[in-house]
Amino acid sequence: MQDTLRCDFCFHRCLLHEQESGPCGVRKNIGGKISTLGYGQIVASGVDPIEKKPMYHFFPGSRTFSFALFGCNYTCGFCQNNRISQTDSPYWPASPGYRTLPVATPQQMFAMMEHSGTSIMSYTYSEPIVWQDYMFETAQLVHEAGKFNCMVTNGSFSPVSLERALNHIDAFNIDVKGDDQFYRHHCAGALGPVLDAVEAIASEQAKVLEVTTLLIEGIHTRHQVEELAAQLHRRGVQVWHLSRFFPQYHMADRPATSERFLAEMLQAAQDSGIPHVYSGNSGLLSYSQTTCPSCHRILIKAHSYAGEAREDVRKLIKDGHCSYCGTTVYGRFDQRPTG
Ligand code: SF4
Repeated sequence: MQDTLRCDFCFHRCLLHEQESGPCGVRKNIGGKISTLGYGQIVASGVDPIEKKPMYHFFPGSRTFSFALFGCNYTCGFCQNNRISQTDSPYWPASPGYRTLPVATPQQMFAMMEHSGTSIMSYTYSEPIVWQDYMFETAQLVHEAGKFNCMVTNGSFSPVSLERALNHIDAFNIDVKGDDQFYRHHCAGALGPVLDAVEAIASEQAKVLEVTTLLIEGIHTRHQVEELAAQLHRRGVQVWHLSRFFPQYHMADRPATSERFLAEMLQAAQDSGIPHVYSGNSGLLSYSQTTCPSCHRILIKAHSYAGEAREDVRKLIKDGHCSYCGTTVYGRFDQRPTG
C-alpha cells in the first residue's frame, strides 16, 4: 500500500501519511485513499437571492439554492461562518462531541434544487474547495439539466483544482482578503494562488467573476486597498464588493468598520478603474446600484431584494447592453433562469 498520498484540492497540496489530515481537517488519508470527512453531510442549506452571495452581475433578481458541507483550509479569526468551517467547532466531523449528520447524495441535493424552483446551485457558506469532490459531482448533474453553478470561495485552488472548477462552475465570487502579509498573519494563507485564480477566471469570456473584500478598519489601510485595486484591475476584474467588518469569532472585541472608512475605500477602488464597485453591509445607497460603465446612467436601482433587479434588467439592460447607449455591461443578464 502506498504510504503517503498528495491531496490536490488546494494550494497547500498536502502530502498525507496514513491516518493523517491536512490543515483543513477534512481531507484524510484512510487506508491508502484520501477521503473527505463529512462527505454528503449538509451543514447549511437554503434558498437565497443571488445578490446575497454577493453576485450582482449573474442573473440579478434570481433566487439560488445554496448549501455547504463542513470545512475550510484557512483559519481566519474574523470568519462569519466559523461554526461550519473551523476545526474548533462541534460541527467538525472529527470533533469529539460530533453527532453524525445524515448523508445526502448529490442526486438528492439536485432534487432539492429542482423542488425549490431555482436554476442556480450555489456552493457557499463554508469553503467548497475542501469538499470539491461532492461539489463537482453535484455540479455535473446541474449542468446536465441545463442549469447553472455558482461558487463562493477563497480562491486558493491548486492548479489542477482550478482546472476542474473552470470545467464545472459558471460564476465565481472570490474573496480577496488583503495583501500577502494579511493572508499569512490572519488566514494561514497566501495571496499569490488567489490572484492566479482571479486572473485565470477573469480571462474566460464565458465565466462571471466578482471579487469581495471584507475591510477591517485598523488593519486594512488605504495604501493596501489601492495596491489591491491595482492588482485586481491589472487582472481584468470588473466587479468588486467592499464590505464592512462586524465583530466576529476571535475578533469579537474589535469595533465594526465605520461607514466613513468604507466610503473612503470605495472611492479609492473606483479611482482604480474597476468599472463596478459595490458596498456591502452598508447603508451607502450610491454604491448599491449598477450603472453603465460608459454613460453612467443607472441600470439597476437596487440589489437588495430578489425580483426588483430583474424588473430593471428587463427594461434597461437589453441582451447584455445598456439600453441608453448600447455599451456592453459585464455579466449574464438574459432571462433564462427561473426562480
Ligand atoms: S484540501 Fe488543502 S489543506 Fe486540505 S488536505 Fe487537501 S491540500 Fe491539504
